[in-house]
Amino acid sequence: MSEVSSTATVLDALVLGAGFAGLHALYRLRSNGMKVLALEAAPDVGGAWYWNRYPGARCDVESLVYCYTFSPLLDEGWKWTERYAKRDEIQAYLSWVADKLGLRRDIRFNSRVVSAVFDEQENLWRFRTEGGDTYRARHFFSAAGPITTPIMPDIPGLKDFEGQVIHTARWPERSPDFAGKRVGIIGTGSSAVQAIPIVAEQCERLTVFMRTPNFYSPARNRPLTAADYQWWEKNRELTRHRLQNCLRWGGGDIMLDDEINDAMFRSAREFTPQRRREIYEARYANGGGVVGWAFCDAMADPEVNEEAADFLRSKIRTIVKDPRTAEKLTPRGYAYGTKRCTVGTDFYEAFNRDNVELIDIKSERIERFTPEGVIVGGRLIKLDVLISASGFDALTGALTSIDLRGVGGKSLKESWAQGPHSHLGISVHGFPNLYMVGGPGSPSVLTNVVMTNEMQVEWIAGLIDHCESQGLRRCEATREAEEQWTRHVNELVKGTLWESANSWYVGANVPGKPRVILAYVGGYLTYRQRCEQERGQGYPGFAFS
Ligand code: NAP
Repeated sequence: MSEVSSTATVLDALVLGAGFAGLHALYRLRSNGMKVLALEAAPDVGGAWYWNRYPGARCDVESLVYCYTFSPLLDEGWKWTERYAKRDEIQAYLSWVADKLGLRRDIRFNSRVVSAVFDEQENLWRFRTEGGDTYRARHFFSAAGPITTPIMPDIPGLKDFEGQVIHTARWPERSPDFAGKRVGIIGTGSSAVQAIPIVAEQCERLTVFMRTPNFYSPARNRPLTAADYQWWEKNRELTRHRLQNCLRWGGGDIMLDDEINDAMFRSAREFTPQRRREIYEARYANGGGVVGWAFCDAMADPEVNEEAADFLRSKIRTIVKDPRTAEKLTPRGYAYGTKRCTVGTDFYEAFNRDNVELIDIKSERIERFTPEGVIVGGRLIKLDVLISASGFDALTGALTSIDLRGVGGKSLKESWAQGPHSHLGISVHGFPNLYMVGGPGSPSVLTNVVMTNEMQVEWIAGLIDHCESQGLRRCEATREAEEQWTRHVNELVKGTLWESANSWYVGANVPGKPRVILAYVGGYLTYRQRCEQERGQGYPGFAFS
């Protein structure tokens, strides 16, 4: 087994992952003079954006606010070409950032961490990668990403299927040629919604296996123009300020008319039914994923939520020509927003194509795969390729898939067996000097993830600065603070709409995963203020030694 510089050198910090959060963390800690390395499983930077190369992959947050703000250097020299950036453009952006900030020299690529063990005698973390390299570091900064551990559906016979099987988050660098192929796709979540229209155009026949219809709205993507950039120069600081001071707004619609935008801060009940309808229509025409979050009580008041849901349902019938298919695609039985709303281009339109078939697998069960295809409702559907857009072991999977052990050799996976616990979604009692960005108990996936990442990276770096300046070797959440925060995270969802859906937000997509809310639903602003309070009071929720 090769021993990399680690045996000679104890790093001040090791960053797990070189995606949005990891690159920023590496830059921030290094700027403080710390000796830091980032370990990245992929052969390049990008994190989730490196792996999600499926056709149609793009971000559904507007590109102007889906980028870093931590350095003015990064506001210069980069121009987004489209309102919603394609995966390749986001990947190019992260690559540009890594080069501009000289980060690559401190990243070890193709380095998937398989174990991380806290050494109580030395107060440091010992890491081992899949390739057998080892590292030691005093601080362990996890930027492993909330949605990075893909899961495959457990369908009988799948391993016997002789065609190609591809998960959307493990798309091959050379995308398969679908011409003349019979393709099946499992899932109708955000990834599938983006892939379906494009694969449908390329293949001979596409069969979509849907378990639960999702709420969907069109992105209305378009090129960014010189006029857009003029607007942006004038409005950049204001937009960022608004994002920083908002509970839920993620920035999927930054150029929306002010009056429509401001309604988001008011109750739906302040408007007449006709005005509400106009507001929904304006949002729908503008595009983006937050049509239904038009008023501040969309997630609190079931009637407001149902009105938004019904608005989006009504649109399906205006696009999908076959009434039976339209009905199948209509989401019911759970509240709008409690499953991640999907956004795309021509998703519903794809079902008007002759070569696309929708199978609702709740009424026509998938029985099993055979070498030739899949048997559904007694019928064999022959397939050459199966695309699994089946999602992720979200928020916890990235860390629980590592043999990660804290004080007394306690495993994080076992510790979280009944549900994750942490203080502020950042620190876990019994796992000193481990800090998480985008971890369970933080609001990240319900917000503009890049913005929340930046806030958390800066906050954690501040905590590490505090340890360094005070000569503190060990830092972890106290048991009391962790219990309090975890109780708070769970109490916020009791009796709310969040409980109505089988979503990855509550771990319902992974068999055996405890059903608890994984994200903090209290909103970005509340979370940021709570973190600032913790820092302002000298970190009362942490124990140092
Ligand atoms: P997902 O939202 O979890 O969707 C997975 C889909 O697969 C669902 O339709 C699910 O059905 C279905 N499925 C899972 N297991 C199945 C099984 N055993 N049999 C049949 N169907 C099964 O995953 P995703 O679409 O990859 O998206 C994950 C998250 O990544 C998104 O919610 C979003 O946060 C992020 N994302 C973002 C963007 C973007 O534009 N920024 C793009 C893509 C993804 P059920 O609904 O019944 O579970």
